[in-house]
Amino acid sequence: MHRPSLVGVVLSTLLVACAETPTTSQSEDMTPIEGSSQTFEWKLVMSWPKNLPGLATSAERLAQNIAAMSNDRLTIKVYGAGEYVPAFQVFDAVSSGTAEMGHSAAYYWRGKAPILAVFGTVPYGMTAQETNSWLHYGGGLELWREVYAPFNLIPFPAGNSGVQMAGWFNRELNSLDDIQGLKMRIPGLGGDVFQRAGGVAVQLPGNELFTSLQTGVIDATEWVGPYNDLAFGLHDIATYYYYPGWQEPNAVLELMVNNAAYESLPPDLQKIVEVAARASNQDTLDEFTARNMASLNTMTGEHGVQLRRLPPDVLSAYRTYAKEVLDELATEDELSARVVASYREFQSNVSQWHAIAEEAYFDIRRTDDES
Ligand code: CA
Repeated sequence: MHRPSLVGVVLSTLLVACAETPTTSQSEDMTPIEGSSQTFEWKLVMSWPKNLPGLATSAERLAQNIAAMSNDRLTIKVYGAGEYVPAFQVFDAVSSGTAEMGHSAAYYWRGKAPILAVFGTVPYGMTAQETNSWLHYGGGLELWREVYAPFNLIPFPAGNSGVQMAGWFNRELNSLDDIQGLKMRIPGLGGDVFQRAGGVAVQLPGNELFTSLQTGVIDATEWVGPYNDLAFGLHDIATYYYYPGWQEPNAVLELMVNNAAYESLPPDLQKIVEVAARASNQDTLDEFTARNMASLNTMTGEHGVQLRRLPPDVLSAYRTYAKEVLDELATEDELSARVVASYREFQSNVSQWHAIAEEAYFDIRRTDDES
C-alpha cells in the first residue's frame, strides 16, 4: 500500500484548495472595493504664485503624491493665485465647491472667523514641532475642524515653514520709534501686534507684495524665510533683513477640502488624502530647514543683504502686545475661548518640557561650539 509523503499531502491539499477557490468565491474575490474604480478629477487653488518654491511646490508635490498613491483615481490640477481664483478667494472657492481643494494659510481667513488666525500662527507662540504636537496630539486639529465645519470645509495641516524671519526693511531699525507709522505687509495676529506697536499693518497676497514694496505702497514686508524669500526676489527691493521671526514662530500651511467632495470619496482615497497631507506637513518643514541657511548665505554673500536682529525694546513691546491680542481674541465667543485656552495650556506644558530638552540642549551645543 502506497503511503503519501508529507510533501504529497501538503501539495494535494493545496491543489484541492486552489481548485475550489474559483468555484466558491470568484464573484466575491473579483468584486472591487466599493468605489475603487471610480475616478475623480479635482481642482486645487492656491494662495501662492504657481511654482513658488516651498509653498506652491509643496502643494504640487502633494497633488502628485495623491495621484501616484491612488493610481490616478484621484488626480488634482493645481492652480496658482489668480489662475482660477484670486489668492484671497481660495476659502470661498473651496467652501462653495467651485474647487474641491485649497492650499493656503488659515490666518488669511480671519474675516470668516477671527480665531482662525491661531491655526496659521501665533506671535510668541509655539514652534513647528510644538504646533504639530498640539494639532495632532493635543486636540488642536479637532478644534480647527470645529471652526471650519460651518463653512463646509475640512482642514489638514499640510506644511510648515518653521521659524520665519521678521521681515524686510529699507532702513535700519534702532528702536521702537522707527516702527511708528511704518506701513508693513504683515498678516494675522502679527499684524495686530505691529499695529499696537505704532505701525500700519497691510494685508497683501504674495503676488502683489513685490510691486507694492517697489512702488512704496508699503515700507516693509515680512514673507517667509531665506529659502522662500530668495526665490521670491525680495533681496532685490529691500536691504535690511531682520530676525527673529517673532510674528511667525511657525506657519501652518493648510490643505482645505470641501466637505461634500471629501465625503464623496471612497474610504481608501480619503485615507490617501489624509496621509499625503500629513507627509507633506513634515516634508515642507524638512525642505525649509534644509535650504534656509544656504539661501541666507547667498543673500548676504552675493546680494549685499544686511542681516540684523530686532532691537530689544521692539521685541519687548511686541511680546506685551502679543499677549493682549490673544487675550482679546479669547473673548470673541465660546469656541474662540476654548481654542485659546487649549493653545495656551499646550504651549505652557510643552515649554516646560522644551526648557529641559531642546533649549537646554541648544545651550550646551552652543557652548561647545564656542569653546
Ligand atoms: Ca510670514
